[in-house]
Amino acid sequence: MSKKVTIVGAGLVGSLLAALLGKRGHSVDIFERRPDIRKADISAGKSINMACSTRGWKALDLVGAGDKVREAAIAMNGRMMHGINESLTFQPYGKEGEAIYSISRAGLNQILIDHADQFDNVNFHFNHKCLDLDLDTPSATFEISNGDHKEVTTDLIFGTDGAFSAVRSVMQKLKHFNFSQEYISHDYKELSIDSNDGQFQMDKHALHIWPRGSHMLIALPNPDGSFTCTLFLPYEGGNSFEQLNSETEIRRFFEDKFPDALKLIPNLIELFNENPTSPLVIVRCFPWTYEDKVALIGDASHAIVPFYGQGMNAGFEDVSILDELMTKHGEDWNSLFLEFQATRKPDADAIADLALKNFIEMRDLVGQEWFLKRKKIERALYETFPGKFIPQYSMVSFTNTPYSEAVRIGNQQDLILDRLAETENILELIEQGNFKSFIESNNIIQN
Ligand code: FAD
Repeated sequence: MSKKVTIVGAGLVGSLLAALLGKRGHSVDIFERRPDIRKADISAGKSINMACSTRGWKALDLVGAGDKVREAAIAMNGRMMHGINESLTFQPYGKEGEAIYSISRAGLNQILIDHADQFDNVNFHFNHKCLDLDLDTPSATFEISNGDHKEVTTDLIFGTDGAFSAVRSVMQKLKHFNFSQEYISHDYKELSIDSNDGQFQMDKHALHIWPRGSHMLIALPNPDGSFTCTLFLPYEGGNSFEQLNSETEIRRFFEDKFPDALKLIPNLIELFNENPTSPLVIVRCFPWTYEDKVALIGDASHAIVPFYGQGMNAGFEDVSILDELMTKHGEDWNSLFLEFQATRKPDADAIADLALKNFIEMRDLVGQEWFLKRKKIERALYETFPGKFIPQYSMVSFTNTPYSEAVRIGNQQDLILDRLAETENILELIEQGNFKSFIESNNIIQN
């Protein structure tokens, strides 16, 4: 039976969910505090870029938006590491043909809103800020642009209003509601590398990384030839955003740490001073649902740091899983919500932990010799035993294996990789084609 559904937040996850519920025939009203992003002017470098991978594509295809998104996305086949001496090292993400895809967040949001808006039973309400909820009715109160308040009574409310969710803040008052919010030591700032007359100034099909220990710069390609860069620095202390407060300091820092990038960002000082510095937060909470009436989805229930490129993908996967559970439970929203939160919470916790771990990998380890050796061994195992050894990064990015399962298998793989990395002539065995027989004769991978 069709439900009257209220969605709070028309960001990436909210608009995808609106499309799914619209497709399933529900009557959907989706409220967004900002103006309609489709009418905003989004120039290159003014929007974060997202890396979309398999879980994201699955959900986008489910609602029929995948092909439109593919047209606006660029494949990134691996990481391009920029050494301090301006050297370049390329590390593929997976096997031939496996890539993650760069897309501007604003562009993706526009596509998803447009897509959901096609359904007659989906109505968008912009400039509506959710102020409060009555969980039992359920109903939601919104402030509209003239300052008036509007109350909406409904059957179901989905909170897709991001890391600082207003819906969650009402649920936080419930007995036994657990919540934690943790800022990490680093903030981030967007910068950009312009195209050279429509030409990319660096390899187009790579995610570029300048790993420098406690700080890091990354750059993702855009279809117009530009790159959107993100600078991650501690917010205080040595080499921090707090310290880089003069033109001389900023320039000196880039000359020291990112000399090749500096050459490509002639307007560095302008961008640095104009663009905001934003914090990075991890949010964990439980429960995610209230009776058969209210549910939190996406960052509202599990915001993570961006270093695995999985925050949005995980939110999109929430939507795919909800779809499966709608088919399974039909009208029984109570059982549906209970199963959703029980199965999904361990996976949300797992990807939160993996994302933090990947921060260390990206900013520090990718530049180190032993790490690159370990990656070579991992790749050789993947290529030699593709059915038996799928690296953790590939499981997370190129399969729909539950995140908690990827952590469990990854822990076992670490033991194997540690052991192989200690084998002195391991790289020669790989190069000389003797790797398979070595692994098999030592029973390292079970048949
Ligand atoms: P949001 O995108 O935050 O959307 C929430 C929406 O709710 C917004 O439109 C907001 O305006 C609206 N809203 C908020 N409060 C109210 C209210 N009171 N009333 C009405 N509306 C409200 N993820 C990836 O998968 N890959 C990546 O490469 C990646 N890179 C990232 C890089 C950075 C620097 C950051 C910070 C994050 C990155 N992420 C990435 C994570 C990703 O951005 C989030 O996981 C994703 O945006 C979550 O979507 P959401 O719809 O749940 O929340």
